[in-house]
Amino acid sequence: MSDGQSKKWFSRRKFIKTSTVAVIGGVATVGIISVPVLRSERLLLRPPGALAEDTFLASCIKCGQCLQVCPPQVIELAGINQGFGIGTPHIIPRVGACILCKGLPCVLACPTGALDHQISEGKEAEMGLAVISRPQTCLSIKGINDLVFKLADLEEIKSREELSVELMHIITKLLDRLTAKEKHSLKEQFDLIGMEELSAFDLRDEVMKDNLQWFVDFVKKSEQAKRGCRICLEECPIKEEQTIRFLGQKSNSSAKEEIWPIIQKTCVGCGVCEEKCPTAAASITIVPRLKWTGEAERNNLLPISR
Ligand code: SF4
Ligand code: SF4
Ligand code: SF4
Repeated sequence: MSDGQSKKWFSRRKFIKTSTVAVIGGVATVGIISVPVLRSERLLLRPPGALAEDTFLASCIKCGQCLQVCPPQVIELAGINQGFGIGTPHIIPRVGACILCKGLPCVLACPTGALDHQISEGKEAEMGLAVISRPQTCLSIKGINDLVFKLADLEEIKSREELSVELMHIITKLLDRLTAKEKHSLKEQFDLIGMEELSAFDLRDEVMKDNLQWFVDFVKKSEQAKRGCRICLEECPIKEEQTIRFLGQKSNSSAKEEIWPIIQKTCVGCGVCEEKCPTAAASITIVPRLKWTGEAERNNLLPISR
């Protein structure tokens, strides 16, 4: 190769290399910019008291003070794939919901008022609204009791430690719901008659001694098993006002009546119901910033007294 040819070959190589780097760099830059743009339409669930989204994004200085004081540590800072508000606080309810803790420490800690200092109680939080997003899996609509549902799941558990933890959850809840007669039957079955209060620990230990099938049958026949799941209401931290009503309506597929959880105006969208819903994917989920309109109430649903 002559000197002239060699120079041309090198400069062509340099050009290709430079353009390739430029193209890759360009694609990467477009990617970095476009990911937040593409994802920005999906609203994040903000901590209590967050101002309207645009004002919130302009006011939050991404200092992370709110997440540092959050007792259950449920606030996370948004990453690059979560829209324009990179570094802003948000909550993922299914991972860990806001429990609306006393005095709203996150609001108090916010130095700019991006979390509105005018609010001081959980019932003022206005984070969003719960919706029954998967009615086809909701245990209440299907008429399935939550404890019976959870006991069926225990068959899949192989580790003894895990089984023991799950049983403890089930038994603790069950003891609150049994009639005096049913508690007495349990004492008789496990030779615990002398005991004044049936202890969840003792009962768990007895059930673990090869009595699981007997216990499952007992729970299925208990009075409380006649009632479908209401975990979302039972776990809701807004205790003083009813956030969910269970209303009956005729099923589309049969003459059977279905019991639907209907979200009320008092729901603030904290996400505890989404976190605790026992179905594989939560049947109830939070729509951030959504306001209550009362649609379901106008839908001819019948109040249930049970
Ligand atoms: S109110 Fe909710 S987000 Fe705020 S500190 Fe308490 S649990 Fe955390
Ligand atoms: S927690 Fe509520 S939404 Fe979830 S299955 Fe139970 S009743 Fe349905
Ligand atoms: S129903 Fe209760 S638990 Fe669920 S989001 Fe509303 S206030 Fe929170």
